[in-house]
Amino acid sequence: MTDHLYRGRSTRDWQAADAAHFLHPFTDFKALAARGARIVTRGEGIYLWDSEGQRILDAMSGLWCVNVGYGQQPLIDAATRQLQELPFYNSFFQTSTPPAIELAELLAQLAPPQFQHFFFAGSGSESNDTVVRMVRRYWALMGQPQRQVIISRWNGYHGSTMAGASLGGMRGMHEQGGLPIPGIVHIEQPHWWEHGRRLGLSREDFGLQAARWLEDKILEIGAENVAAFIGEPVQGAGGVIVPPDSYWPEIQRICDRYGILLVSDEVICGFGRTGQWFGCERFGTKPDLITFAKGVTSGYVPLGGVMVGQRVAEALIEKGGEFTHGYTYSGHPVACAVGVANLNLIRELKLVERVREETGPYMAELYGQIAEHPLVGEVQTCGLMGALTLVRDKGTNEPFAPELDIAMVCRGHCFGNGLIMRAVGERMIVAPPLVITRAQLDEMAALIRHCLDLTLADAQRNGWL
Ligand SMILES: *Cc1c(COP(=O)(O)O)cnc(C)c1O
Repeated sequence: MTDHLYRGRSTRDWQAADAAHFLHPFTDFKALAARGARIVTRGEGIYLWDSEGQRILDAMSGLWCVNVGYGQQPLIDAATRQLQELPFYNSFFQTSTPPAIELAELLAQLAPPQFQHFFFAGSGSESNDTVVRMVRRYWALMGQPQRQVIISRWNGYHGSTMAGASLGGMRGMHEQGGLPIPGIVHIEQPHWWEHGRRLGLSREDFGLQAARWLEDKILEIGAENVAAFIGEPVQGAGGVIVPPDSYWPEIQRICDRYGILLVSDEVICGFGRTGQWFGCERFGTKPDLITFAKGVTSGYVPLGGVMVGQRVAEALIEKGGEFTHGYTYSGHPVACAVGVANLNLIRELKLVERVREETGPYMAELYGQIAEHPLVGEVQTCGLMGALTLVRDKGTNEPFAPELDIAMVCRGHCFGNGLIMRAVGERMIVAPPLVITRAQLDEMAALIRHCLDLTLADAQRNGWL
């Protein structure tokens, strides 16, 4: 540590105040206080700087959200203008604001054609709470109020509120707080490396098998009791788990067959991440509802929402009556103004096309080379999302002993070498900003290799191999 000062305070001083007063999300407070947080002070493009002046390549886009990169003037201008003109007004009392109207109008152009209506929230978690309320409201309006159950997947992530964490399939989250709430059940995830490989199935056969776990669950519960199925096109927080191409079309067939609503949680996959505007377009489904957040504003300000497809919108609007749900910040004018500026910028820069035709395929090529590293068992990419699985023995794909927490060792090297790459179980994952260039992807891949080499050296030195 140096005597570098940021706003007149040393890193040590910031860390002490942080530990004294700020409880971080998903954090072991005591452990963090002992080591001290990294204080991030500035961002430009795909890079961050910390309070020690170290430059970091942010291969996680903040938290899957800074799709247009840091420091984009059109977003800053849109926020500034709106803050000056009208920083807040609600849309509860038969009132509306121009930015919320404009964002809904723009989303109607960008979303698949069945989506002409949009409900706004403040985050992805809130949006999934809205999904739970809305699908149950839909079935009540349709005269089938017993259709209450929502099916989701183990190791899916749908947020951290009571409903969001219940929809998610993170067992560690369920253990704290008595979750899931009633009426939410889980099936196994379409994770070939974890499940299909062990069953001895090809990827595509496994995709069909994993989809049929949904059918089994529907039959077990009784289709007349099932309201909806929800899933992320590609599981993000679960470890960038890209399903086999056979999976989603089969899920769609099953949902259609039993008349249940299909909800695509596109909080990560939406707005270009997969090389299409929405992940459902990449995987060939026609969902009834889409959850969005993160990339809609590139994370510059909080915003989320639910895209409401024709089938549900028609019932909500035509059958009438008040939907007794909403948030103070539903349609927040500053957030919506930034959303409009962000989506227009994605269009202007042709980022979706660039991910689909140029940077996505190039990252896949680089990951193909990374797959040859002795520590890497498999790689998966989809658009600008990538995962690699660390193995102890490349021949047999035998994993490291869990207590070594090899991915955290690797993450430590990334941290020390100016790269943000995240560890999930044995997988190392990235989702860089959509503005990343080919040359910057080369830089990212070189850093990944370097950190894998350092991790391998640790394993050799400590006799873990
Ligand atoms: C991040 C995330 C959420 C939760 O969003 P928050 O804004 O953190 O509440 C929900 N679903 C998915 C798929 C996510 O990645």
